[in-house]
Amino acid sequence: MSYTITLIPGDGIGPEVTEAARRVLDASGVKIEWEVVEAGEKVMQEYGTPLPDHVLESVKRNKVALKGPITTPVGTGFRSVNVALRQALNLYANVRPVKSYEGVPSRYTNVDLIIVRENTEDLYAGIEYMAGDDAAVGVKIITRKASERIVRYAFELARREKRRKVTAVHKANIQKLTDGLFLECARKVAQDYPDIEFEDMIVDAMSMKLVQSPENYDVLVMPNMYGDILSDLAAGLVGGLGIAPGANIGEDGAVFEPIHGSAPKRAGQNLANPTATILSGVMMLRYLGELEAADRVEKAVAKVIKEGKEVTYDLGGSTGTKEFADAVIREMEKI
Ligand code: NAD
Repeated sequence: MSYTITLIPGDGIGPEVTEAARRVLDASGVKIEWEVVEAGEKVMQEYGTPLPDHVLESVKRNKVALKGPITTPVGTGFRSVNVALRQALNLYANVRPVKSYEGVPSRYTNVDLIIVRENTEDLYAGIEYMAGDDAAVGVKIITRKASERIVRYAFELARREKRRKVTAVHKANIQKLTDGLFLECARKVAQDYPDIEFEDMIVDAMSMKLVQSPENYDVLVMPNMYGDILSDLAAGLVGGLGIAPGANIGEDGAVFEPIHGSAPKRAGQNLANPTATILSGVMMLRYLGELEAADRVEKAVAKVIKEGKEVTYDLGGSTGTKEFADAVIREMEKI
């Protein structure tokens, strides 16, 4: 079987890490025809938008995309392409596995959890306005439909991946209506999954517990903003953003991308770690049902990292982005 997949290289280190991932995925033996389309800073001038219609159409047509990070100006300028893409394609579930890999310098060795983040609403609905000159208001939207859908997704994922527990994260003690609704939905959906343990936790307590004892957690499900913050925290537990993959999944398609941003200071120097993008590609292969190829790529990445001789600067080495991909491809040939 062959697949046509949209590839969005992105900004900053994006083109380098997506090229590395593309070479590794091609070497996995799965036949992929890549439809390369550009979004972000570099197309602003030409199209007057960082997300031209043909990019959205390509993803809608192919239903699967691999994407590099895209720069979002802070405070002013265009809205996040990432947020726009997720909303336009209704990619409602953001899935971020956080796993310890042997050889990655980190404080913990036994982390294996998945953060499931609601992707379409909360403060990311982008509704903000000035109330006079000296006050700014942001609107937080939480709906029953999106909350039930994301919690159900988390339980289904837990079942599929034989996970034992789902923890719903919220701040319902303070945000009584918005987070209160999310929690009410989580408790209701949990009743349909008696085989999976369920608990809820306030986001501040969750942050502390993740740092104290991450091994006690399995699948965590939460509204958009907490998911954004806790997934970076969790990535930090296992050695940083360079190895943390992600997926945005909807009913009609999926976009796979690393959690990290465009790291402009590292761009164009063959320095960035492509692991997060390669592992996003592994998630993509599993989504496509290419399980053997996915396992082979993941094993090869794990081996190269464990050996530690050919790793990028963030993992304590001095190997370049391209050469890291070469090492993974060589390792795959041995498996
Ligand atoms: P960042 O993730 O780009 O960088 C944070 C730190 O991690 C930097 O020190 C960087 O050098 C390092 N880093 C990140 N990825 C790395 C990799 N693959 N290998 C080695 N080191 C790596 O975060 P930031 O600086 O806050 O954001 C930069 C830009 O990226 C911003 O415009 C932001 O909006 C955007 N961003 C985009 C996405 C996305 O496209 N999904 C996600 C997050 C941030």
